[in-house]
Amino acid sequence: MSKTRTRFAPSPTGRMHVGNLRTALYAYLLTKHEGGQFVLRIEDTDQERYVEGAIDLIYRALQETGLTYDEGPDKDGGFGPYVQSERMSSGLYMDYAKKLVDLGEAYYCFCTPERLASLKSRTDSEGGEFAAYDKHCLSLSREEIEENLKAGKPYVIRLNIPNEGETAFHDEIYGDISVPNEELDDMILIKSDGYPTYNFANVIDDHLMGITHVVRGNEYLSSSPKYNRLYSAFGWDVPVYVHCPLITNEDHQKLSKRSGHASYEDLLAQGFLPEAVVNYVALLGWSPTDNREIFTLEELVEAFDYRHINKSPAVFDIEKLKWLNGEYFKKMDDETFYQKALPYLKEAVTGPYDMHVLADMVKTRILVFPDIAEQLDFIDSIPAYDVELYRHKKMKSDPEKALTILKEVVPLIQEQVDFSNDALFECLKNYAVDHEYKNGTVMWPVRVALSGKASTPGGATQLLELFGKEESLRRLADGIRLLEAAQS
Ligand code: GLU
Repeated sequence: MSKTRTRFAPSPTGRMHVGNLRTALYAYLLTKHEGGQFVLRIEDTDQERYVEGAIDLIYRALQETGLTYDEGPDKDGGFGPYVQSERMSSGLYMDYAKKLVDLGEAYYCFCTPERLASLKSRTDSEGGEFAAYDKHCLSLSREEIEENLKAGKPYVIRLNIPNEGETAFHDEIYGDISVPNEELDDMILIKSDGYPTYNFANVIDDHLMGITHVVRGNEYLSSSPKYNRLYSAFGWDVPVYVHCPLITNEDHQKLSKRSGHASYEDLLAQGFLPEAVVNYVALLGWSPTDNREIFTLEELVEAFDYRHINKSPAVFDIEKLKWLNGEYFKKMDDETFYQKALPYLKEAVTGPYDMHVLADMVKTRILVFPDIAEQLDFIDSIPAYDVELYRHKKMKSDPEKALTILKEVVPLIQEQVDFSNDALFECLKNYAVDHEYKNGTVMWPVRVALSGKASTPGGATQLLELFGKEESLRRLADGIRLLEAAQS
């Protein structure tokens, strides 16, 4: 049996849509699971949709997500070129189109845009929803065609689909699908600018590149019968089709730009990790036989079975992705986390604090990097807070008791020589024992006075250590003043 070869065939039209990333991922997983090859092909023949710089986004996304291709524009594997516009310059698509013309499977069409437009409206006004081309140019004689070509008349080349019969194909996910030929348009293979259409080029290229499994979004499902006609016209083997289900937002609408998180780049900008995105995207339409949710890319390769791709739409749940991202932070080694978090830490805190310490404090408490800002918003300066924050039932704390405790612990903290978390903890714990307080009854007011918050990364003594003696005493004194003012 020949080796599995899949391809990712993005068009450089902008950001990497989550659906495209999933296509790339599934194509990668499918072939790597079989020990096969993964090919990158850039489909840039649609000049109108081309976006400058989009190719770099494709490279960057594949690199960051670890979807390493075996062959591509910068990695020749003997099936190149891997960019369609470069393939076109050899006249390759035109040659194949002409072959089809010779076989009677395709024909030149010289119809003007005006005629095509009138054709559409006529068909529409007759009540038909389907404005198929009427095969007008199929009846041109050889001489007429030659003449038109010589006169330089613009033309397209169309596939000749018979009006009778039907065309069937098999998809691994959606099963056997059969479409009456009368519903299939004589689609354009070569456009008037000489470029092939996606519909034509993808078939030629998949064949020439030895692609065994075509993985793509289900928006191509309805065109697949036409592709099959091309394969059979050439007498080529049809690849295995794997069409992936639609991805929707939480409202079950197609995931679009408006959702704000439809692309890989959007997700990065929102502070998600590439590895968490890959993990999550893998689960959009596929699930393992057990209910496991956390997978490295290698583990996905191992577990992935494309037969378990689901055909019902997959809902993109940003909250689930956040949870998963948080799990990746927890698993990450401290230094890697620090490196990645540093830009966000610097943004959140400008004071002279050890960023490593801050990184360790937030690592298990955030879901996405931008959460760091909220976690550390009390470091540079303490937010205004209400004295009622000193009241806590479980900690057995209230403003009055808090005032007493703060006044008593300030001198202890002042005398403290070893200002490490452990030593400070020991000191406050001893104070609590001596005065028959719960630990929390002492720690709570200290933490509130230092942070003005009910919840902080790091407990009271960690914050003391972080702020150092001077700043700590300043904040504790402010807390005492606030409590006194409230009680007077
Ligand atoms: N160039 C197409 C796209 O970006 C690829 C479709 C396919 O995978 O065949 O949508």
